[in-house]
Amino acid sequence: MASIILKPGREKPLLRHHPWIFSGAIDKIEETPKPGETVQILSHDKKRLGCGAYSPHSQIMVRMWSFDSEEEISRDFFRSRLDQAIKLRKVLFQKKEVTGFRLVNAESDGIPGLIVDRYEKFLVCQFLATGAEHWKQDIVSILEELISPQGIYERSDADVRKKEGLPQVKGVLTGKEPPDLVEIQEGMCRFYVDVKNGHKTGFYLDQRDNRAILAKYAQGKEVLNCFSYTGGFGIVALKSGAEKVINIDSSASALGIAEKNLELNNLDPSRSQLIEGDVFTLLRGCRDKSIKFDIIVLDPPKFVASKGQIERASRGYKDLNLLAFTLLKPGGLLFTFSCSGLLETDLFQKIVADAALDAKRDAQIVLRMSQASDHPVALNFPEASYLKGLICRVL
Ligand code: SAH
Repeated sequence: MASIILKPGREKPLLRHHPWIFSGAIDKIEETPKPGETVQILSHDKKRLGCGAYSPHSQIMVRMWSFDSEEEISRDFFRSRLDQAIKLRKVLFQKKEVTGFRLVNAESDGIPGLIVDRYEKFLVCQFLATGAEHWKQDIVSILEELISPQGIYERSDADVRKKEGLPQVKGVLTGKEPPDLVEIQEGMCRFYVDVKNGHKTGFYLDQRDNRAILAKYAQGKEVLNCFSYTGGFGIVALKSGAEKVINIDSSASALGIAEKNLELNNLDPSRSQLIEGDVFTLLRGCRDKSIKFDIIVLDPPKFVASKGQIERASRGYKDLNLLAFTLLKPGGLLFTFSCSGLLETDLFQKIVADAALDAKRDAQIVLRMSQASDHPVALNFPEASYLKGLICRVL
């Protein structure tokens, strides 16, 4: 096995079991490993720290598989990690009320770079790092063994693959090709998921628990669902008795599925409006016409892709939340989210507080939200915690 020797002092994160080694921490690479190959990691004074996958093109040059220097990285290793990940979901979803969920959450489930989402009888995988890519065939055959899905589909067409020097690929890995729309159950709702062309692996599974929270508040309310995608929050609100929901998204194809989702849930289309457009423009329009809502959901896409963008993104979040605060009726609720991992929770809260202040609204936090439990965060890998949300009530 090839060895990687770290610079003096750079073993510290590894001693805390953080799974990433950046190129700047590496002193020497002995023998030349191939991309994805398992390498052993040594501190500068040659203590063995464990082993990981070598990724020569990425700034994250090694993702650790194990901190136990005796552990062998083999098919059995992946079988045991996958089995462990699946066991958590068996506990979470034993009642079968949820048939779309994340089965493997990469680093936090001990398999850096691997995402596996389950949609009914199909699995959708993303191999986002060179190590996961290297073990693809084994991972797929183990998943077949453990889950017996009808088919496993690959959605490795995510941008992060470029940083690893990996091409964008998608297609059937094994078994049947999923239909254009796979139907899943999420509590009292059903959703169509476009696993082949939708965002991520097709659905925002991470918001499931927060959609369920909205259900508790929605009865009889007028809801504005901003960045609706395929209707998620809006469908849940209507199913829970909301009087009216306006959904807005810039993606026509997402709204096409939202319309089908209304039908799938036997919802009266007259209680719902689907608008293709820009949220900022719509919110300004409502402000100018003094249109008000009981509940507003703001679930924008990621505004921060790198640390340099935090300031600009903060202004975006502020504008958005400011506009939303002005449109709430007294007693109204704002469900506001950020999925930018690089934006700290405290900063997000401060931005929302500033927005309320500028909107001249007094507000209180009713609840803090995060990603659903099938997206666990390894304690040694806080980077996995990216989604944060607040329910704010204006007084
Ligand atoms: N709340 C959704 C997920 C939202 S993802 C759910 O629970 O399923 C963010 C969405 O914002 C995407 O669907 C994207 O198409 C949309 N979007 C991005 N920029 C936008 C803009 N300026 N105006 C409207 N929609 C936008």
